[in-house]
Order: sequence, then structure tokens, then C-alpha cells
Amino acid sequence: MSTTTPHSSFVKVERRPVTVEERGWIHDIVSANPAWADVQLGDLVVVAECACGCRSVVLEDPGHIQNPKFINHQGLVGEIDLGIRFDGRDDVVSILLHFAEGNLSVLEVVWYNFPEPVPHNWTEVSRDLRIGD
Ligand SMILES: [Zn+2]
Repeated sequence: MSTTTPHSSFVKVERRPVTVEERGWIHDIVSANPAWADVQLGDLVVVAECACGCRSVVLEDPGHIQNPKFINHQGLVGEIDLGIRFDGRDDVVSILLHFAEGNLSVLEVVWYNFPEPVPHNWTEVSRDLRIGD
């Protein structure tokens, strides 16, 4: 697998649809990027998850090219910085959506407080979205 993420510990999991939360992040990023906004994504399926607990996931190759503009390219569709509140403190989690060969490839959750585990529940207090180049 070829991605630009620092995560090297993805483990295969039984195929599952993206969660409502994952789909929401993907939808927000894709629809904010003019180069991706018109792409029909179809069913999004998770096939691997990062073993470190950060909630990063690998998306299944859909079997067709989602965005022919980006064949032979990989990069970032966009990212969201989530301001979150949990256990009485405020923090930031970044959500990065990567593509490879014209397909969405990895939804990466960046937690800046390693090795502290990523919180399972948080309240979102702000959202700052940027699109990739
Ligand atoms: Zn991880």
C-alpha cells in the first residue's frame, strides 16, 4: 500500500461500511474541494484500521477510478481541524483525507498527544476545514 501517512501499522479488518462519523468527515472534505465535489463516491468501505487506536482507516479500492483527474497522483483531498472537548479539557484532532491513484485511500486521524490514547468520545466545539493542493 502506498500512502503519504506516517501510519505503518494498519491491520486488515473485516470489510465494514464507514461509520456515520467517518462518512460525515469524508463528505465535508470532498464537498469542500472543487476538484472532488462532483465525484460520485458510492459505497465507502473500510478494509483496515490503524493498530495504534488513532481511528485512522484504509478505504477499499472501489474497483473503478473515482476521480480520473488524479490517476497517477496521490495527495490530500483536504483536512479538518476539530476543536474538541473531553474530560474537561480542550484539544485538537486533525482529520486528513488522502487519495491515491484517483481514489480515496486513507482517512487519517491525527492525535497530537501520543502516546496518550485517542479519546473515544468528545464534544466537537469547532471545525476548521482546508482543502488539499
Ligand atoms: Zn494510528
